[in-house]
Amino acid sequence: MKRNGVVYLVGAGPGDPGLITQKGLNRLGSCDALVYDSLASDYFLDEVPDHCRKIYVGKRAGAHSMKQEEINRLLVELAEEGLNVVRLKGGDPFVFGRGGEEILALSEAGIPFEVVPGVTSAVAALSMAGIPVTHRAVSRSFHVMTGHTLSDNGTLPPDFDSFAKLSGTLVFLMGLSNLSLIVNGLIKNGKPEDTPAAVIENGTLPEQRTVRGTLADIENRAEQAEIKSPAIIVAGDVAALDFSSTLSLPLKGCRIGITGTESFAGRLRRELLKYGGMTDNVLTLSTQSHRSGEAMKEAYKSLKSYSWLVFTSANAVREFFTGLFEGGYDLRLLGTIRFAAIGKGTADELLKTGFHADYIPDCYQVKDLAEGLKSLLTKEDRLLIPRSAGGSPELNRVLDEAGVFYDDIVLYDVALKKSEQESMEKVLAPLHYLTFASASGVDAFFQGAREKVLPSLASLKVVCIGDITAKALCRYGREADLIAPVYSISGLTEVICQDWCREKE
Ligand code: SAH
Repeated sequence: MKRNGVVYLVGAGPGDPGLITQKGLNRLGSCDALVYDSLASDYFLDEVPDHCRKIYVGKRAGAHSMKQEEINRLLVELAEEGLNVVRLKGGDPFVFGRGGEEILALSEAGIPFEVVPGVTSAVAALSMAGIPVTHRAVSRSFHVMTGHTLSDNGTLPPDFDSFAKLSGTLVFLMGLSNLSLIVNGLIKNGKPEDTPAAVIENGTLPEQRTVRGTLADIENRAEQAEIKSPAIIVAGDVAALDFSSTLSLPLKGCRIGITGTESFAGRLRRELLKYGGMTDNVLTLSTQSHRSGEAMKEAYKSLKSYSWLVFTSANAVREFFTGLFEGGYDLRLLGTIRFAAIGKGTADELLKTGFHADYIPDCYQVKDLAEGLKSLLTKEDRLLIPRSAGGSPELNRVLDEAGVFYDDIVLYDVALKKSEQESMEKVLAPLHYLTFASASGVDAFFQGAREKVLPSLASLKVVCIGDITAKALCRYGREADLIAPVYSISGLTEVICQDWCREKE
């Protein structure tokens, strides 16, 4: 009999992807199915293994969302298939997250489960807005209430008066549409009108906004600022405090869209996060390996006849060495072969396998790689260039002209990965920058939808990793706003940091 899988109810934290727990990340890293909704950042979709089934269950404007009973059933069915499932929920699974209902359904079906707590927005959104939920001599307790069920019949629930009379910090989740009812209810039940109050929108995210005031005017102020959901309402003396962080990272408040392969996107995202930027995956390219195809088999077999191995991407390095070991060879096969790498990222990847690059061009471009190599070669040299299909013909042109012997072999293909994303316009709307790391990424982005996406690029800056990528962009009628002078992840990050800091001045 097939064994049931385990369901992990994981709290994703309040929005900033850095606020998930290590335990939550570990569960994501080893699950077979992911069931998630809109409060959980897209960032987490990249943390699951390749084979993982990703199932979106709502609720985004316009998209179909599942009813709670359907979600319960889905979790049971997936586990009965023997899959280990992560049910990812915004904040903490039990803070108005309906985690309990899912657990009841799982217990009934005899499915094993584990709860991984999360950082709740009820505390974290306040912290990030500089409002401490408690403060010595100001607030000795905090109380969290849902504002959602308040207005079933337009009235306050019977226990609201005792809630209003509590002396600590009062926090309302899901209360924005009932803000008026809440504020008036608090005042009617004895809270002074000058009680400090605040509304925090998109807490912990780059677009976080806080409106502060008192019970008398907070409704007006929130309305004027056009505060939208998700938002948290706070009432109590702590709402007058402001302990916002004073350390500001260079990319604070900056939202960057990434296009590229999964591995590239992951590395760029980690780098941008270090500087306080938030990222969205706009388009993911997947790589299809040909490392065990006939051409590569032949190349491994005759590896000893080559004097140079040329890598034009970190991915090529990974694929090449994986294929080498899978083929039953080891590093001895490489003997005294010399290595050329197109840039630092590729050279760093090579170093992981124990080899320093013998040659890296000053400018990380195919043309410079070819020109530089040319000057190092003799007539006896034989080059092996395992790289992606559709790699730049510039390399062949320069080497052909110089009469260099080389084998240019397709090691992998890059293709657009089907995404479960919303429409491109919606994905692009909140972005400040959109990055392109290759001409193939540019082509994939515009595939079939050129007229539709061009206008969406008007409100953001497009950043390209190098001239070839920028030229590819030009072909679609859009100039790059920024080109990284150093063609690497850190070069791309640096150019965005500089520009963003200039913008803020
Ligand atoms: N389990 C979640 C809460 C789910 S209820 C948690 O522990 O945080 C959904 C409500 O949470 C939203 O309506 C909003 O009031 C609040 N919320 C969640 N994330 C938020 C955020 N980033 N900023 C402001 N409010 C948020």
